[in-house]
Amino acid sequence: MLEQHAEVLERCTICHDQCAFSCPVFTEDRRTTVYPSRKAQVARAVLHGELPLNQETARLFYQCTSCRLCRRWCVYLKERQDLAPALRAARAEAVARGVVLPEVAALAARTQAEGTPWGNVDGRRNELAEEAPRTGREEVLIFADAATLAQGWEAVRAFFALARAAQVAVRLSKSLLTGFELADIGLADAARALRTETAAELVDWFRSPGAGPVVTLNPQVAYALTTWYGEEGTPLPGPVTTAGAFLAGLMKKGRLRFNLAPGPVVFQDSAYQVRYLEDADSPRALLGAAFDDVCEANPSQAEANPAAPEGLAAALAPAVPKGMAVRRLAELRDTGARLIITADPYSYHALKAAAGDVVEVADLSQALAMRLPS
Ligand code: SF4
Ligand code: SF4
Repeated sequence: MLEQHAEVLERCTICHDQCAFSCPVFTEDRRTTVYPSRKAQVARAVLHGELPLNQETARLFYQCTSCRLCRRWCVYLKERQDLAPALRAARAEAVARGVVLPEVAALAARTQAEGTPWGNVDGRRNELAEEAPRTGREEVLIFADAATLAQGWEAVRAFFALARAAQVAVRLSKSLLTGFELADIGLADAARALRTETAAELVDWFRSPGAGPVVTLNPQVAYALTTWYGEEGTPLPGPVTTAGAFLAGLMKKGRLRFNLAPGPVVFQDSAYQVRYLEDADSPRALLGAAFDDVCEANPSQAEANPAAPEGLAAALAPAVPKGMAVRRLAELRDTGARLIITADPYSYHALKAAAGDVVEVADLSQALAMRLPS
């Protein structure tokens, strides 16, 4: 498990902390032990038996939001090191060896009892399934992931309005989790079972007559269903796309258009959208058609600071998510934008909570639905 990442751990151990400034966990926590390179050093020592794998060392492996900023700023320019998967493997190793942090055990218990780590979202999923547009020139399957249903379900309703305008019928998945959410916190066995179950539903979907793509409002889900499923030997036989990429495609075909509204607005890049899926363009193409002034925060696009951990691991460091949202909100507000637009449920939820009534925050689908011609 961790053995597969031995080379990354070696390289990250000897680089003299070159990317430390970029790590959002260090920015909030300020202890040098959470430098990316120090986390790598401890994981390497555990791998070689030089340090015990116990609650203390395991806890350090959870001090990561998987944001991939360390990779973006890695000094090995020709071979950027990817520490996030190595730390994920270290968390899985800890759980496999019986070192389960109480917070992880609590999330596992909640998933067992309520179906998802975010609690029971069946009611919301069923309510939205009733509202979905049923007729259209094509049909897509929206992956009704629990994080979106719990933290940004309003965006699903807005997506329905856009789908209606473009004559797209929508069905909601029964699956609420990809499995990656649990793999990310080290629960590899539960993740495997979920992946098998979810893949079965999606394979059935792709085999059904006239099935369109699977669309998700959570870029982490798109990454999980494409890259991670492939890596784990469960490739899906059809396309999975983010809502942004799907809507940008409809706009390009002339099936979606918007009334231009005055800006300035600013877009918060999701780590999974921009650094894993490497798609900074789709949301910007859409926003450029709906607002006359789309400004950029500094840093933006591939270097954008995250507004929230996109996943559950960093929930184990409670001060980190709150600090990240407040800090990023200040950077976004510095642009003078009247509206902050997100494209993942984690950033949406965190920025909305941090912003209160001071500035409006909307998901990409919400911002676009407001600009549909009446
Ligand atoms: S990602 Fe690159 S710069 Fe960061 S710790 Fe690893 S080797 Fe060093
Ligand atoms: S992936 Fe992000 S949070 Fe994790 S070590 Fe790298 S910079 Fe820090």
